[in-house]
Amino acid sequence: MMDYPLTIAFILRRAETLFGHKAIITRRPDKTLHRYTYADFVPRAKKLAVALRQLGLRRGDRVATLCWNQYEHLEAYFGVPLAGNVLHTINPRLHPSDLAYIVNDAEDRVLIIDDTLLPVLEKFRADVRIEHIVVIEHAAQAPAGTIGYEKLLASADANAFAYPQLDEGEAAAMCYTSGTTGRPKGVVYSHRALVLHSLGQASGAVGVLESDVVLPVVPMFHVNAWGLPFTCTMIGATQVHPGPHLDAESLCDLFVGQHVTYTAGVPTIWLGLLRRLDERPKEYDLSRLRLLVVGGSAAPKSMIRGFDERHGLRVLHAWGMTETTPLGVVSSLMSDLEQADAETRFAYRAKQGYPVPLVEIRAQDDAGHDVPWNGKTMGELQVRGPWVARAYYRSPESADRFTADGWFRTGDIVTIDARGYVEIQDRSKDLIKSGGEWISSVALENALMGHPAVAEAAVIAVPHARWQERPLACVVFKPGCTATAEELRAFLAPSFAKWWLPDAFEFVTEIPKTAAGKFRKTALRERFATAREPSPAS
Ligand code: AMP
Repeated sequence: MMDYPLTIAFILRRAETLFGHKAIITRRPDKTLHRYTYADFVPRAKKLAVALRQLGLRRGDRVATLCWNQYEHLEAYFGVPLAGNVLHTINPRLHPSDLAYIVNDAEDRVLIIDDTLLPVLEKFRADVRIEHIVVIEHAAQAPAGTIGYEKLLASADANAFAYPQLDEGEAAAMCYTSGTTGRPKGVVYSHRALVLHSLGQASGAVGVLESDVVLPVVPMFHVNAWGLPFTCTMIGATQVHPGPHLDAESLCDLFVGQHVTYTAGVPTIWLGLLRRLDERPKEYDLSRLRLLVVGGSAAPKSMIRGFDERHGLRVLHAWGMTETTPLGVVSSLMSDLEQADAETRFAYRAKQGYPVPLVEIRAQDDAGHDVPWNGKTMGELQVRGPWVARAYYRSPESADRFTADGWFRTGDIVTIDARGYVEIQDRSKDLIKSGGEWISSVALENALMGHPAVAEAAVIAVPHARWQERPLACVVFKPGCTATAEELRAFLAPSFAKWWLPDAFEFVTEIPKTAAGKFRKTALRERFATAREPSPAS
């Protein structure tokens, strides 16, 4: 067989030759619609590649983006890797100190930023060395010292573009994931991983079709919008990019107005949509929407069932990670289960699911033995496959996340049943996932223990109806000392993003410990982890 390299070039060439007539629609920050075709998009992606070369970038240099889901971001998804550079998508919701850290760690030479996010850049600009800042202008002209995105493209000739000879193992993109302790860790996606992941995403229950109109609500800075921009471009689906407005009403307007058939997002988004539909069931005709993919946090069974029974909408639950590009397991029903009673069907659909082709799974106990697939015995989920990371970027200290026999340790504690359906029971990593975004409990604890009145602090996740999880801090005061929840929150505020601050504080006489002296958070969770709301974050 031919030695045919699996690279992003294949996806762009395919889009160019087959799908020139298909549309890509973006809702801009002012809510006006921008509409163009793949025939318009491809030369602009090429121009970006040429322009990056003209800026003097070398093969493998990183180009960061701080953008919403928008057509310019899609252009960067292709233009950057096809210049031989690495697309580094950045989450604007991170704390400025983390933003500075990841830009410096990745050694980003160029930043492409939407002008609505310039205030985010201002918060860490002084702490990073970026050579070129390219601004996508909506409201005003690019500020002094920056380059306008359109001007940059205008300086390049699409005809000067030649598809480079890329090795499929070369880096195409990278994304940082929150660490349990310490700093975020980079995951680097090879061309090959992205191409194979796109094929995986185009197949089976989660499959995107050429006839689909796909609206990724999941941001392009979250694991490449779960791969959808690459997959849609490969398949030739119509793409609808929603920009910064992701409330239920703004989404429904796009779903109806653009005839969206396929969408994907975290549970918080879909819980908001469900509330809206329940309040005013007849307001929007969503009958074209054939699939709502949900992942990033556990999708409540009541939500899946509510969409299904009250609104005739199909929710598909999937699990993945930054380290798995992200598609791992998907909870579609095997054909015999389609015949089961409603209770059984919804119970299966609320599980995380069984692996997509090319992803293998197992669960292991603490002693490193595989646990039986009986739906009862818990173990840590481990995965392997061609789009699973084999290391973190420049992070040899994280080598323990990979087993000696070549599997990735996810940190998710699961059961696997006899059919191979995974169900997440807990997390071994000390992280809280609020509305699809990570909060490090360890970072909050360490900061709290820096307060003069605090002897010990443990932060746990408590279930929350809207955000899935929110942080709760258990605090032990030093003898003779005390502080109020407001004082502690104010103490944390300068160091953390607002949405990281614990909603609730419990003042306790001691934190239960393991034999090794570590906080026994399971005991705290048993005591305090009942669903709470409303919260300041709501
Ligand atoms: P990230 O790398 O930010 O995408 O986060 C990956 C982690 O999110 C996983 O290891 C899980 O802990 C969690 N996660 C992702 N999808 C699901 C899901 N469907 N159900 C429960 N947890 C999930």
